[in-house]
Amino acid sequence: MSPAAVVGRFAPSPTGRLHLGNLRSALLGWLSVRARGGRFLLRIEDLDEARCRPEAVDGLFRDLEALGLDWDGPVLKQSARGEVYREALEQLRREGRVYPCTCSRAEVARAASAPHVGEDGPVYPGTCRAGATMKPGRAAALRFLVPEGVVRFCDALRGPVEQDVARAVGDFVVQRSDGVASYQLAVVVDDAASGVTEVLRGDDLLTSTPRQLLLLDALQLPAPAYAHVPLVVQPDGKRLAKRDGATTAAGLLARGVSGPAIVGLLAAWSGLGDGQPITPRELLPGFSLAQVRRTPSVVDEAALEAGGGAR
Ligand code: GLU
Ligand code: ZN
Repeated sequence: MSPAAVVGRFAPSPTGRLHLGNLRSALLGWLSVRARGGRFLLRIEDLDEARCRPEAVDGLFRDLEALGLDWDGPVLKQSARGEVYREALEQLRREGRVYPCTCSRAEVARAASAPHVGEDGPVYPGTCRAGATMKPGRAAALRFLVPEGVVRFCDALRGPVEQDVARAVGDFVVQRSDGVASYQLAVVVDDAASGVTEVLRGDDLLTSTPRQLLLLDALQLPAPAYAHVPLVVQPDGKRLAKRDGATTAAGLLARGVSGPAIVGLLAAWSGLGDGQPITPRELLPGFSLAQVRRTPSVVDEAALEAGGGAR
């Protein structure tokens, strides 16, 4: 593959300002493709109307710009791509890979072989597969008929990963009952449509990747390479939240911490550099994902206050 063919992306959901974990994924994704002369795309994952805030989109542009992260080409907005998702769903339907499901969340939880909580909530036991249990008058979601067997891939940071999707997740939703495409479907359709060759994102999505590989295969789309980066956590082990001003770019910038200071911090957490202020471009020479630290980073509030950061 020629270096110019490397394409990465950052795909935030506009649910608030970006926190340090989001930003570290953006920085590493940018470094990984830019170090090979590749293109870096930005996609707004705004399908979940209840959680997304349109004004957050401007905020995340500002956050990325403050850090010195740029992107190529037009920004894709998932909310504008309903037609593309419908076509992919239609293809799956024609090929008998999906079926309608009218189960409520509570029904799925009750029906899951008790108490069988999988990788992503209760495992769907296939109640509607045969069609007989459909509740007339209830809006139906579409579920992907998960084939038997173990899905395997090699993650650039985690090494070999495998998951038996049928047992760990069950048939999963590809179109919600309100007609909106699910995250799993939209992400694979968009990555393929944009020619993405490398998906770098937070570890929290590692268990989604086998589902996405199954969908790519069913849609006859090429699979990208995957790199899942460790999360950034609070000292109490909790995940960072976009509403916590102490750990968002917006909050730090407002307190006078500069963009390069934030980049220096994110880089140091990843095992790159000494934590001093630096620009993404200055981190490029010799960068490779192989150097990135594989353990979670813990935010050190006191050091953050002092403009330092984490251990
Ligand atoms: N929109 C997802 C998030 O903000 C990321 C999706 C992805 O990178 O595949 O968590
Ligand atoms: Zn069902």
